[in-house]
Amino acid sequence: MTASPATVARGRADVCPGALQTHAAADGALARVRVPGGLLTGDQLRALAAAARELGDGALELTSRGNVQLRGLASGAEADLGDRLAGAGLLPSATHERVRNVLASTLTGRAGGHVDARPWARALDAGICAEPALAALPGRFLATLDDGRGDVALLGGDVGLRALGPDRVALTLAGADSGLRTTPDAAVALALAATRGFLDERAAQGGTAWRLAELDDGPRRVATALSSSGRHRGQVPSPARVEPLPTLLGEASGPPLVGTPVGTFPQADGRVSLIAVVPLGRLTAEQADLLARLADEVQLSPWRSVVVPDLTEDAADDAAVVLHRTGMVLDAASPWTRVTACAGRPGCAKSLADVRADAARAVATGTLPADGARQHWAGCERRCGRPRGDVVDVLATLDGYRVTAAR
Ligand code: SF4
Repeated sequence: MTASPATVARGRADVCPGALQTHAAADGALARVRVPGGLLTGDQLRALAAAARELGDGALELTSRGNVQLRGLASGAEADLGDRLAGAGLLPSATHERVRNVLASTLTGRAGGHVDARPWARALDAGICAEPALAALPGRFLATLDDGRGDVALLGGDVGLRALGPDRVALTLAGADSGLRTTPDAAVALALAATRGFLDERAAQGGTAWRLAELDDGPRRVATALSSSGRHRGQVPSPARVEPLPTLLGEASGPPLVGTPVGTFPQADGRVSLIAVVPLGRLTAEQADLLARLADEVQLSPWRSVVVPDLTEDAADDAAVVLHRTGMVLDAASPWTRVTACAGRPGCAKSLADVRADAARAVATGTLPADGARQHWAGCERRCGRPRGDVVDVLATLDGYRVTAAR
């Protein structure tokens, strides 16, 4: 684990939107609903679809953290939205609603991986919501729960669990291995202890950082405090053996799912899952209702795709046809698996272009820049929603789009 630079001083608290604390966008209020693990029941999906149709602009936006946004909310719609979300079990804590950022491996518990990370996601979310002090976490704080396949472990979580085998779990801090090990049963307790450790270290360093990596030597200090305090119930050796993530990735289990998995995946129980990409992450209320009819539970991925699990092969064939007709993408060769965009005009006042319309036009006409490489279109330098990894930037400027190489 390498030392992080000196503490980053933030002049203000983070203003990440939530379901109740909305953001005033150019097209109305924007609400972000946290979906720990990306896991949504059919009833929850139906409730979100109805809210989008009746309160918002008729669609759900999928985010790079597997969450859902509603746009175009009228002034005063927050109370109605809050009631609907609470009724659907999507708002278990009004005080903690913005800090439930939990990613879990795509397909976990169904195909690949050493463990099922879904119980971790539910337990970690419940643990966060149960502790009043954890309401002070920044809205940008992120937990990643990787079942061993190495997908979400690479997404830079502040705190993360990474299964190394069926009985051994690594704690990651700021996206790197901490050297601490535990068992699957004790893993959530360790992640919660690390989360508390972030707040303690943040307070010791001035109390303004949003992310663990912004603290001076934050990951090492939190790991040292954990291994010396014994205040968690995990079986954790001293952090003597720190392995870089690439070493851990050599132990990955299951299909390589780094990036955008798409298509049909056989499950361990003989059934199959479909993974469909949602172009530009905009899921219409009608598409959401369709997904809710196809599965009792779906999983949203950080790559703006949706897992439709537990299908027979015949049902999967039929579902794939219907999803394709609605505009969802199940072809791994589709350019839509490589194109993302920020909100752009008209939703964002800062945008210099309607980037979504322009990106869609480029896909339709086969004129994507950079030979169709993985790319993110953005209306200004902030590049909201840019995926991690090698991505070409297609940036709106006053003189048209500027295309810069992947970095
Ligand atoms: S990148 Fe700029 S234009 Fe796009 S949503 Fe963010 S602030 Fe708005």
